[in-house]
Amino acid sequence: MRPDILFPLFRPVTSLKGVGPRIGKLIEKLAGPKLLDLAWHLPSGIVDRRYRPKVAEAAEGAVATLTLDVVTHQPPPSRRLPYRVVCQDETGFISLVFFHAHTDYLAKLLPEGETRVVSGTVQIFQGTPQIVHPDHVVTLSEAANLPEVEPVYPLTAGLTPRSLLRAVGAALEAAPELPEWLDPAWLRERDWRNWRESLLAAHAPEGAADLEPTTPARQRLAYDELLANQLALALVRRHVRRLKGRPIVGDGRHVTALRAALPYRLTGAQERSVAEILADMGSSTRMLRLLQGDVGSGKTVVALIAMLTAVEAGAQAALMAPTEILARQHLEVIRPLVGALGLEVAYLTGRDKGKAREATLARIAGGEADLVIGTHALFQSEVDFHDLRLAVVDEQHRFGVHQRLNLSAKGEAVDVLVMTATPIPRTLTMTVYGDMDASRLDEKPPGRGPVDTRTVPLSRLGEVTAGIARAVGGGARVFWVCPLVEESEALDVAAAEERYAALKAEFGARVGLVHGRMKGPEKDRVMAAFRDGDIDILVATTVIEVGVDVAQATVMVVEHAERFGLAQLHQLRGRIGRGAEAGTCLLLYAETLTEAARARLRVLRESEDGFLIAEEDLKLRGAGEVLGTRQSGLPQFRLADIQAHQDLMPVARDDARLVMETDPELAGPRGQALRSLLYLFERDAAIQYLRSG
Ligand code: ADP
Ligand code: MG
Repeated sequence: MRPDILFPLFRPVTSLKGVGPRIGKLIEKLAGPKLLDLAWHLPSGIVDRRYRPKVAEAAEGAVATLTLDVVTHQPPPSRRLPYRVVCQDETGFISLVFFHAHTDYLAKLLPEGETRVVSGTVQIFQGTPQIVHPDHVVTLSEAANLPEVEPVYPLTAGLTPRSLLRAVGAALEAAPELPEWLDPAWLRERDWRNWRESLLAAHAPEGAADLEPTTPARQRLAYDELLANQLALALVRRHVRRLKGRPIVGDGRHVTALRAALPYRLTGAQERSVAEILADMGSSTRMLRLLQGDVGSGKTVVALIAMLTAVEAGAQAALMAPTEILARQHLEVIRPLVGALGLEVAYLTGRDKGKAREATLARIAGGEADLVIGTHALFQSEVDFHDLRLAVVDEQHRFGVHQRLNLSAKGEAVDVLVMTATPIPRTLTMTVYGDMDASRLDEKPPGRGPVDTRTVPLSRLGEVTAGIARAVGGGARVFWVCPLVEESEALDVAAAEERYAALKAEFGARVGLVHGRMKGPEKDRVMAAFRDGDIDILVATTVIEVGVDVAQATVMVVEHAERFGLAQLHQLRGRIGRGAEAGTCLLLYAETLTEAARARLRVLRESEDGFLIAEEDLKLRGAGEVLGTRQSGLPQFRLADIQAHQDLMPVARDDARLVMETDPELAGPRGQALRSLLYLFERDAAIQYLRSG
């Protein structure tokens, strides 16, 4: 149960005075539906009202606070023209301008002959200064309450700064004093204030420096968030660990046969990972292990050895992929290998219907299927396993922690192996996965051709197309990747369709198109045609990003490469150079490159090492460009900045670890306070794993 003390913060924003359904919707879109979301909506700028010039010296465009005598009201001849109130001081005249004015209201606000303090942005109109819709108009006696510096918040269209400012203010008033969840010594060491004071301070900047992520207030809030994240991960992990596992020990017959059938030897990194995984499986605690490796590093065979070991032990193993294309690809690699061993593979996706689906479900439930490969359809409640003991989840960032646990609930004591092709910098691994055990494939299989990466301005598209024509003439297979347009799939598709039409006009029927909006069978058909060589050029949106294998493809063109994240470009490029032949990757960029985009493209040109690229990606993120999670697979924090607060991450992890050692049920006073913290950052799903939760 959420602690009562937090209730006010979980009220809807529409419960605030002055926030009706319309403004409520806008605030929800901008920040979120609850008062808490407004509290986390930190200012991005300030308005400084301390500039107090005389009228004659007031600089155009500046925010000024002026003391003025009201001279005369000038109602407009027509409602479409603005209402003017002429004011003055000893140095000159200035007009206050109001559109759609309420005459009575203005008469009261600015009575002729009286003095008012007015604050707003000064403009010069036809040679005279004016202020359109002043931010503040107060009497001399009220002037002392005029804020000297006001926070400015990120806005959304339709929402005025004033109404947002008021709503945030009201939300902050609802913020209660909360019991301290931070360790007192740590708090003293950093000289941080308590949660509420820190929150209020973060919303009350007095100068530009107070907006920096390194201010004590923002650091404290960021640390709170990182701690909540680490604690939640630690709780889930402890829960999994406490569940009894059944040791899975194979007799080696299938694995030996597989090794004999493979046309290559495992790399050192693969052997090390296999040993780590089999040791976990053989122990009586549950496995929750991450297999991290760059595109093409050979994760599949490592996972397959783990799966065959489960089968040797008389159980079933499942492999789940995030998309149908990937699931099918796994099936196509794995089925022939295990077919030769006399084992059965079932394949299940959301696309299967009717009788065929019934038959597949029966083979899974009856145990005839030794291995099961599929999409998240494997989670569904009708799917019953005979004896599932190992679940392998591919490309984990597309699933949540909960889905992972869901699959592991499909059997008794299921071991979980998560594969990810998103190399994550060491400093971030713990932020994303907590203390999960990790095996790293940091060595590429031998015999891969290098990829020659070049950056080319879009203005040279004609030369690129000519070059592609020559390559295709020489038998090359080409991926042509179309840009990400905002974060909208519909627009991505439109751009891809346009390029497809243009290339078709030039190359005829040997051009194909795949995108995320196409139906599964259609996608498969095009992919198959590309693989079989019926198509030379495949135009694609980023659906090909995660692991589409066509070993014969050696050329890739990425249009508007500057719009992609580094990690994503690296993933894309991994689609070529999978065979022994050298590949070519052409990154086409728009001439108006930002410094950060230029730096990203340079990194890519110079390196093919996914772990190094991931480190660079992290460094470049600070350079003022925020890339969406869609591109990075990293978690989104509201207050913590993975760049600016890097140094706090290991501390938060150690802190969470210590809590798990000293008060794992979160029962003591600090433990109770930490529960509030988990609710505050909506990481409370983990609380259900506490005995006294
Ligand atoms: P990942 O899933 O990590 O991107 P894959 O498992 O799909 O990589 O492997 C990529 C390719 O490398 C596959 O064609 C696979 O057969 C091959 N491969 C895997 N391990 C080795 C190895 N040790 N030596 C040579 N080729 C390998
Ligand atoms: Mg793979």
